[in-house]
Amino acid sequence: MSILPMNLNSQKRLKSREERKSKRVQKKKEERIILPLQGISILQREATKNLIIRTGVVIANKTQCDSCGGEVCRSHSLVQKYVDIPEDGLKSELRVEITTHMCKKCNKKQAFIPVSLLRKRRLTKRAIQYILSEHGMTMFPRELGNLIGVSEKTIRNIRKEYKDF
Ligand SMILES: [Zn+2]
Repeated sequence: MSILPMNLNSQKRLKSREERKSKRVQKKKEERIILPLQGISILQREATKNLIIRTGVVIANKTQCDSCGGEVCRSHSLVQKYVDIPEDGLKSELRVEITTHMCKKCNKKQAFIPVSLLRKRRLTKRAIQYILSEHGMTMFPRELGNLIGVSEKTIRNIRKEYKDF
């Protein structure tokens, strides 16, 4: 029995089809990986009837000024609520104490926001990841907003702002 050798073109086609497939698989895998809440240690997880609340603390805090490099001292801190990814169809909220520091040299005040949280919005980065995921993109802004606990407008804005997230 003889097997006819494939011509170059069909070999190429096969290869690129395989490559495309493996890229798709890779992308799916990446989407399933949920970003960790880096820089935050979760102390408590509480589930109420329609909300999951995680309480965390910032692991490392600021020691140097962003603008002059001078030594900073604690000014004040406040518990902030961040929208996190939904869990079992429930909204989920992260409560974390954010500390504002003051520079001893230049007197500039600055809040220390862990990398896993957004600076501009009260959302975790993984919530953004969820909104922009393949699954999230199949949902209407209103539906998705209701699920995670933000307005329809916020969903639309995030889809525009974080295209390359
Ligand atoms: Zn400074």
